[in-house]
Amino acid sequence: MTSGKINVTVENIFPLIKKFLYSDHEIFLRELISNATDATLKLKHLTTIGETAVEYGSPIIEVKIDKEGKKLHIIDQGLGMTREEVEKYINQVAFSGAEEFLEKYKDSAKDSGIIGHFGLGFYSAFMVASKVEIITKSYKDEPAAHWTCDGSPEYTLEASDKQDRGTEIILHIAEDSLEFLEESKINELLVKYNKFMPVAIKFGTRTEGEGDDQVEVDNIINNPNPAWTKQPSELTDEDYKNFYHELYPMQFEEPLFNIHLNVDYPFNLTGILYFPKLSADLQMQKDKIQLYQNQVFVTDNVEGIVPEFLTMLKGVIDSPDIPLNVSRSYLQSDGNVKKIANYITRKVADKLKSLFTENRADFEAKWNDIKIVLEYGMLSEPKFFEKAGAFVLYPTVDGKYFTLEELKEATKDKQTDKNGNLVVLYASNKDAQHSYIAAAKDKGYEVILMDSPIVSHLIQKLESENEKLTFARVDADHVNNLIKKDDNPISKLSEEETTSLKEVLETVVPKEKYTVQMEALDSTDEPFVITQPEFMRRMKEMSASGGGGMFGMGNFPEMYNLIVNTNSEFATSLLSNTDTAKRDSNIKQALDLAKLSQGLLKGEELTAFVKRNFSQM
Ligand code: ADP
Ligand code: MG
Repeated sequence: MTSGKINVTVENIFPLIKKFLYSDHEIFLRELISNATDATLKLKHLTTIGETAVEYGSPIIEVKIDKEGKKLHIIDQGLGMTREEVEKYINQVAFSGAEEFLEKYKDSAKDSGIIGHFGLGFYSAFMVASKVEIITKSYKDEPAAHWTCDGSPEYTLEASDKQDRGTEIILHIAEDSLEFLEESKINELLVKYNKFMPVAIKFGTRTEGEGDDQVEVDNIINNPNPAWTKQPSELTDEDYKNFYHELYPMQFEEPLFNIHLNVDYPFNLTGILYFPKLSADLQMQKDKIQLYQNQVFVTDNVEGIVPEFLTMLKGVIDSPDIPLNVSRSYLQSDGNVKKIANYITRKVADKLKSLFTENRADFEAKWNDIKIVLEYGMLSEPKFFEKAGAFVLYPTVDGKYFTLEELKEATKDKQTDKNGNLVVLYASNKDAQHSYIAAAKDKGYEVILMDSPIVSHLIQKLESENEKLTFARVDADHVNNLIKKDDNPISKLSEEETTSLKEVLETVVPKEKYTVQMEALDSTDEPFVITQPEFMRRMKEMSASGGGGMFGMGNFPEMYNLIVNTNSEFATSLLSNTDTAKRDSNIKQALDLAKLSQGLLKGEELTAFVKRNFSQM
């Protein structure tokens, strides 16, 4: 047997790092500013714990473009490096000085906000630079060092006469990356990645004031203390709103409310989520939730980290514990990430519950703007569904709001079917179903308005989770058939009369579309009512909205019931009519009226109907 060590030569690995380490070349700037920030935070930490007597002051990081020299400078006033440290930290690829620091100062540095991790960030500089220089002077009393490398594994290291503490990184921008010498490009990157980093970043100057009072001031890119890093008790509603606009400068709408996230066990996570006013056009969502790690922007693709139904929200999440250098599919199976998603779901549910209990009127006023998210959450997250009962609302067509329990309570005495199930009557469109709603209200029933696109799925879910509860749209059947009454009327017509009337009707009403159903209803009820069975319609809607395709998309025939009220005067008059031509035309007329009520009279039929009625005037 032989054993040995696989030999990796730097010559082979180096070009790979340059090419494949990061898919986005632009992140080099984020990495170098992260290092400058780390260097500053480390110095801060050392002064705080008394390990050095140097004055911390108020250090900044400066980014400078030298267009002529084709150079980009990143200058910090952090702890710097000695010559030995350059050899240790820079010359060893994949050795992280940040990790070493955190290891060394374990407990005290836990919350220092140090960013670095893998010891690879610095080398991202070679993605855009043909040559990189480091000029650095340590806070320790040692001469400055000057390191130079042109992207081959060879470097030079010599003394430098730099006097002030800190590090200057000089990138000689490569010919294929000259865009990074454009002020607008660098500004864009700084705003994108560094807007909330904890050490002030200067990029050029700008003028402030008017006329004689004009002064040149440092142009500071970032807000080092963004709202999410503070305690909720330190923030007012106004602060939360202001931060929303700081995050999305192009957004002029106010958010509806916010949720402050803050945990440190079993994972670290802070952030603020906002419920925006959702426009009907959900596609139009440019402002997304932004993910940060220690105040460094990472991505606005939070898929897998934030539960899907909450990706419609806005805001920030900051967690150093999300493994991001791994594939998305791995991310979804990562235990920590699962816990984060569950935590967010729970916090959102808790917040909604407290908003509901603290100010119900306000919550009701916002309901229409938030319901899509909540309904979608009930469908997709069992944990959210469990909690949703406490605050999800069911508005009536008259603008009363019930929770499901309240609705059950309000309707339990009046609205049950013959099997003892509670029947929730709902409408999906107040105008289109107006006559059916009016009929149900006449009988003293509550009608709920459920008009989201996913309603059929939601209803299915609610029925399966609640015993003895069924939903029926107001036009699913005649209300007298949907809901059992103690005093159901008896038919004025005899059985024979009913059968013969039915036969007559079936000769006029097209069989392939309508099933004629003879019913003894109240004499005041309409003589003809067209209904569409709940089950059929719901299955159709569900397959149309991508719910299942159980029966093969859209293969449902358009079938309706024609309910004929045998107690209506019209029914009696049909029976006694001896003029068959007149009788049949009356049946057609009544059928058209029923169709009109259900919105089924259209096109040519509608035109003929109108013409006929005018001619009879
Ligand atoms: P990481 O940040 O993950 O530790 P990097 O490759 O980004 O890895 O940097 C390697 C190391 O080089 C850092 O950990 C740090 O010790 C040192 N370093 C890089 N930039 C600076 C800087 N501006 N000031 C001081 N030290 C630095
Ligand atoms: Mg780094």
